[in-house]
Amino acid sequence: MTTDLTELDAAEIEAVEINAAEIDAAAIDPADLAVQPAVPGGAPAVPAETVGDAETAGIVPTDTEVPAPVERRSVPGLSPSRANDFLQCPLLFRLRVVDKLPEPASPAAARGTLVHAVLERLYDLPAGERTPAAARAMVDGQWAALLEESPAYRELFASDDERTEWLASAGTLLDTYFTLEDPNRLEPRERELMVRTQLEDGPQLRGIVDRIDVAPNGMVRVVDYKTGRSPRPGYESSALFQMRFYAYVIQRERGVLPALLQLVYLGDQQIVRHAPSEAEMVTFEQRVRSIWSGIEDTARSGDWRPRPSKLCGWCSFKDRCPAFGGTAPEVPEGAVELVLGVVPAPRDSVTTAPAPAPSATTAPSVVAGTPDSAGSDLPAPPAADATGTAGLLV
Ligand code: SF4
Repeated sequence: MTTDLTELDAAEIEAVEINAAEIDAAAIDPADLAVQPAVPGGAPAVPAETVGDAETAGIVPTDTEVPAPVERRSVPGLSPSRANDFLQCPLLFRLRVVDKLPEPASPAAARGTLVHAVLERLYDLPAGERTPAAARAMVDGQWAALLEESPAYRELFASDDERTEWLASAGTLLDTYFTLEDPNRLEPRERELMVRTQLEDGPQLRGIVDRIDVAPNGMVRVVDYKTGRSPRPGYESSALFQMRFYAYVIQRERGVLPALLQLVYLGDQQIVRHAPSEAEMVTFEQRVRSIWSGIEDTARSGDWRPRPSKLCGWCSFKDRCPAFGGTAPEVPEGAVELVLGVVPAPRDSVTTAPAPAPSATTAPSVVAGTPDSAGSDLPAPPAADATGTAGLLV
């Protein structure tokens, strides 16, 4: 799987202005399989809150001509993280994506977000000033900004000492970054770039790419930072799925297949590289369609059964999971239609098989094949997955 693309030497990466209009990452929750309201006829998408604003404000058109009602329909989306959720466990996917149940923040995830924020802004500095000390100097400011955005992060630490230690661990990860890449030799074309493409008869594929580099000869490298450890042999498929996802979307939208997909693991100082092929993209499309088809079938049947595995230890919903003696809440009325664009069968026509006993080897039963040559469909264990933003769209 590991491929070094020597032609794309870091020194050759050209300096190009970032297209800020395309980034707009702040407007999208990368961890959310969000619904994007759309106006029929291909008009630009309109935020849901703005539809019907005039009515909610008590404004009634005085013109005798009554405007046609605005049809509200959803454009279902799929990110790599949520696709992996479904492969791991349909109930997990449902509770996270359809029910949108809140989940507690974790220090590991918060640290991933913090480190990603610093690495993104590191490239605001001119080449030559991108040093470990400069990166560390950004930590406190970025942490303050995150706290402002998500005050719940304040509850992560029982004491000041705990928080100080945690901030120091973020600094250590940033130091590690400089042992893997020299940011002074790079000028990214894009940072924290929202990418998306509409699959015909399928979902909108969405994700946020940490960094895109473009060489003078036009070769594209997609880079993703991971604050966890690299996957053990046999568990690479989840990470590869995410990177192929980005390659596929970029190829469709920009007409260029990235030459290199690069994962930078700060947790164990590893870089994993993969050069995707055209044939791989064909297989990827089949695979993502297969996953979506599995999601739609499950949504129609309402059979969101739990699929226990070793990964349950990291699941926020374990106490509500029938596989562990809990009771899953009812699906909120209309949520399946709204989020997935699928009308579920009437509840009394749904028969749900009992949850299988917890097993480390339980394989996905819904997703049809297009097997991954790099490994199974099962996602990587969380030990290798304490990441920050990427994949996380998305
Ligand atoms: S505890 Fe395991 S089986 Fe239950 S919802 Fe979570 S991931 Fe699924």
